[in-house]
This record gives sequence, C-alpha cells and structure tokens, in this order.
Amino acid sequence: MKGLLPLAWNRCIIRFSNSIARQKAALKLFKKLNMYKITITNKIPANEIEELIKMFVPKGEYELNVEEALANAQSFSVVFEEETISRPVTDFRQEDRPLADKKELKNAIKRGIYTALGRHLGKSLPWGTLTGVKPGKIVRELKEQGFSEDQIRAHMKDYYYLSEEKTELLLEILHTQYPHTKPAAEKSAGIYLGIPFCPTRCVYCSFTSNIPKKDDVERYLAALYKEIEYVGSRMKQTGWRADSFYIGGGTPTTLSEGQLDDLLTKIFGEFDLSDCREFTVEAGRPDTITFEKMKVIKDHGIDRISINPQSMKQHTLDLIGRSHTPEEILKAFETARSAGIGTINMDLIAGLPEEGPEDLMDTLEKVTALRPENITIHTLALKRASRLKMEDERYHLKHGEVLTDMVALSREYMKQSGYVPYYLYRQKYMAGNYENVGYCLPGKECLYNIRTMDEQETMIALGAGGISKRYYSAETRIERSANVSNFEIYIDRIDEMLDRKYQLLFA
Ligand code: SF4
Repeated sequence: MKGLLPLAWNRCIIRFSNSIARQKAALKLFKKLNMYKITITNKIPANEIEELIKMFVPKGEYELNVEEALANAQSFSVVFEEETISRPVTDFRQEDRPLADKKELKNAIKRGIYTALGRHLGKSLPWGTLTGVKPGKIVRELKEQGFSEDQIRAHMKDYYYLSEEKTELLLEILHTQYPHTKPAAEKSAGIYLGIPFCPTRCVYCSFTSNIPKKDDVERYLAALYKEIEYVGSRMKQTGWRADSFYIGGGTPTTLSEGQLDDLLTKIFGEFDLSDCREFTVEAGRPDTITFEKMKVIKDHGIDRISINPQSMKQHTLDLIGRSHTPEEILKAFETARSAGIGTINMDLIAGLPEEGPEDLMDTLEKVTALRPENITIHTLALKRASRLKMEDERYHLKHGEVLTDMVALSREYMKQSGYVPYYLYRQKYMAGNYENVGYCLPGKECLYNIRTMDEQETMIALGAGGISKRYYSAETRIERSANVSNFEIYIDRIDEMLDRKYQLLFA
C-alpha cells in the first residue's frame, strides 16, 4: 500500500478486493487512521471509476489505490464513520451479464460505488454512473442494435442510473442528429485548424490559448502554412476529401484582416474543398470582430461563424477576464450580419462566478432576441490549468444546486424560443456534473459538431494542440495522433508534426 497519510478530513474508505476477510482487516486499519481510502484492482480502468468518485467528493479528499496483486474485484466495502457496507460486486450485476467481461465488471463496480456514496451523501447524479464525454453515442448505438425508445429508456435507467430527464434529452437530440450520424464515406474527413491566440486570457480557460507577443502570430502562421501545404497535397494525392472545415482556437479573429485573408487564401488554395459541406470560422471574442474581417470571411464564401459572449452581464465579463462590454457583443453580431454572414452560433456559459438563474435568463433573453441560428449553452468546466480551479478546488461541486435550476430553466426557455437541442457533450470537472448542449433553429444544425461527437468520421486537426482521429469503419475503431499544444514547440518541431500526420493518415 502506498501513501498512508492520516488526513483528519477524510470521511470514508472504499475498498475492492477478492477476499472479504482481507478487506475487513485492512479496513479496520484505515478506519483507525481515519483514512478515506479507495482500493481497486488494476484489471479495470481505474480512471473512469475515479471520475465517478470525483463527482461526489473532490480530489484531494480521497486516495485511490490500485492493488496490483488482485486479479478481479469480487466485492467492495465502503466504510463510513458510523457504518461499514460490504457487498459482493455481483449484487450490482445487470441482467446476469458475466462479470468476467471487463466492461460489465467496470459498470457493476460503478453502480456499487454510486449506490454507496449516493446513499451516504444523500446525493444523486443526473447522469448516473456515466462519466464519458459523448453519452449520445450510447443511445445511437442502442437504436442501431434495434432497441425501441422504451427499451432505451429502461436500459439507461437500470444500467447507468440515468435520470429520466437526461434520457429524454438524449432521445430528443438523437431525433435531430440521426440523419447526420451515418458512418462517413471512406476517406472523408472533417478538418480542424487551430489558432491558439486570444486578446486576453479568461479566468476559466484551459485551452491552448496565448496572448501573442510581437512576431508570434507570423512565426506560427509560417509553420501552420507548412502543415496546410503538406496535408492539403497529401489528401489530394491519396484521395481524401474534406467534408467540413472548422477554424477554432483560441480566437481565430485575433488575426489581423490581412493575416486572415492570407490564411483563408492558403486554405482554399491547398485543399480541394469541392465536397466540403460546411465551413466555420470561430470568431469567438466580440472585441476581435470588425466589419473588414467579416467581409474577408464572407468574400471567401464562408457563411458560418461563432460569436461567444458567455454572459451579457458586465460584472461577470469583468470577473472572467473579458475586456469587452455587452454592448460590444450586440455590435459584433450586427457587424457580422451586415457583412452578410448567414449562420451565427453564440456560446454561453451557465455557472459563471457570482451568477444565478436570473442572470442566465437575462443573457438568454438578450441573445435569443438576436435570433442566432445556433446557441450553445455550456456549463462551466474547470480543468486543472484554469485559474479559477487553482483558486477553488471545490468550485464544480459547490455549484450543483444553482445549476439544477439554471439548466432546467434554460432548456424550457430555449424550447419556448423555438430552438431544438441538436448535440451534446460532457467534460470533466463540470459544475454540478451537467453538460453542454448545442441548440439550433430547425434545420440549422452544425454538421462539424455532430460528427465530432459521433466519432464515425476521421478528423484531421492542424495547428498547435490539434488531435487528429482516424476512424476505421470496418473495425469501428479510432486511432489518435496529437500535435504538441505549446505553439513555440509546434513551430520548432513542425516536421515531426508532419511525420505524425503521415503515419496516421497517409503511410
Ligand atoms: S476566449 Fe476561449 S480560448 Fe480564449 S482565453 Fe477565453 S476561454 Fe480561452
């Protein structure tokens, strides 16, 4: 056993073992030390189980111990100050599925942990035991296996302990996106290109984002052009086709009008985009949007952008490190429309510091009044690298209740305003363990978003921090290859990035 540090604020122990007697002896010791200890075998993916535990208690208040000697977890115990619960894992088996199957074992253990922690802490989670980023894939796969909607409902409830509300949301989304979720044609790919610069850094940011110093952008673009040329020509030679193109970041419109024009000229020159069904530029920060930049985008035939206010409350914008006003958001929207941009997405965040349901509703009222074609409502996710997470480790757990109201109110409001949910994903460390939902006016879904989450198409990512995923349809398997996320290292090692692309896609 590693790390036996008596920590006074620890409250319980969770332990998996193949021997109840062995567990009990160890538990006595841990209890004496007032430890909060979790031990599982190395035969199951400990990370997913840890993700579930973290939704109940913050990291730092438990210790996860992987005991290598155990072949299989057959039982588990949870020791609280007042009681000890010891149960065989088979108690949490579903429909007599064999626990020899790793996936079944993992899910049975997750149900066991969920039940023990949930009962003790008096807490239930809307997403039940699901910890993955793309729960929509599960319902799509069930539908393809021939499950009726009622059978899907029953399975999500019994197998994952999912709330009724989340199952209904997944089913509603499935209806909208199902026509777009067919496996892509062989050698069809979505393309992502990242510009890792922003004018200032938001307090919750954990993306590859930098405030550029003199020459940074030009040096970065030079390396990026090399990758564009390489991937564009290789795709043409080997018969790959771009199905959609997405320029994200960072904030791509941090580029000057001239840089943006050059970049788009380069892209259209190097890639064959004759089959490309959708092209998006994430403008992001309103303080980077000018009429001239919007005209450049429009003149290249691009009709879809994103403007991301996050909130329409000045105090919140100040708190999160944005250097613009709500009025500038409205102006940026008008500017984009006046340049002829036909499809605009707006990103919002529920759960920002010091915001309550009334603030979110106010933001929603102002944003829906503009009638953007897409609105994406995120719930705040704080990854380790964000300043807010460093300042408050428990933030994502504390805001659960206020978010319950916000999420419910926003869903209802969006429905009344004529928007339908069309895609959904979850992240780690989301406030209150909720989700991000993309809404659209009917028929205005963003194809790139749907296909990225559905993972039945190859995604080729260019630029610092881009993760390419090759989809093998015959084996329904994905292989990944990542570019380095630090843009300086990306510039220095650009040839290595090209080699990685070669290995993944063109070898
Ligand atoms: S705009 Fe987005 S990428 Fe840029 S600093 Fe803010 S959160 Fe990070």
